[in-house]
Amino acid sequence: MVTLERRKGAEGSMPGRLLVELGKGRFRNSERRIIPFVNDPEKDKLLNDIEHTPHAFVLACLMDRQIKAERAWTIPFAIKETLQTFEVDDLAGVSVQEYKRIFREKSLHRFNDDMAEIFYSGVQDIKEKHNGDASRIWSSKPSSAKVVYEFLQFKGCGKKIATMAANLLATQFRIPFADYYSIDISPDVHVLRVMRRTGLVSRDACLEAVIYRARELNPEFPGVIDFSCWEIGRTWCRPRNPNCDECVIGSVCKKVI
Ligand code: SF4
Repeated sequence: MVTLERRKGAEGSMPGRLLVELGKGRFRNSERRIIPFVNDPEKDKLLNDIEHTPHAFVLACLMDRQIKAERAWTIPFAIKETLQTFEVDDLAGVSVQEYKRIFREKSLHRFNDDMAEIFYSGVQDIKEKHNGDASRIWSSKPSSAKVVYEFLQFKGCGKKIATMAANLLATQFRIPFADYYSIDISPDVHVLRVMRRTGLVSRDACLEAVIYRARELNPEFPGVIDFSCWEIGRTWCRPRNPNCDECVIGSVCKKVI
């Protein structure tokens, strides 16, 4: 993790400007690393290998609804273990009834039948629309809007998942994009806490409000402040006993705690 440095001379700026500045600096300097989606080396290896199994990442994104992310992101690996294959052609040859049986038997999701249908449909789309190669969604330096649009074409994929996927591809997998306008912030608990405590949004702001505030702060790449909010939230702005004295934005934060 790149540690944010206290920026001398920035003390007079507003917290939003500083968050954008810090986020841009980290985005420029960060490198691709293994993302600990589920904190299990074998499962994370499958999810991170977007060169060979890009469909694992896409299908995991589609599963990330209504249950804890760590559980949702293990589903592709569970399917691989059950079927003893993860080739797209093999996955596409499995019936929706069989997926439903696997989901139910292994209790993979809170909504096993619905998510089995979404998994099945996602595999069919990857095979038919993307010629079996899900990385075509983000190949050839696409616009961020194109990537979000392609995700939205999958059954069960809403705006939140589509922008989260584009955000992960750009900021964590370091996939080149032609632009970053459509990559919104992904307001997880750390991001929400920092945005609220800094006073950039109200204490009871909904997710949509946070997303639009981030767009206002940095329209050309709203999601860039994920970097700074996430790190501040993990390092200083903990749920209890925030360390405002040491915090990198302590001098400009409203400290709405
Ligand atoms: S730790 Fe304190 S100064 Fe830093 S973001 Fe949280 S409330 Fe603001």
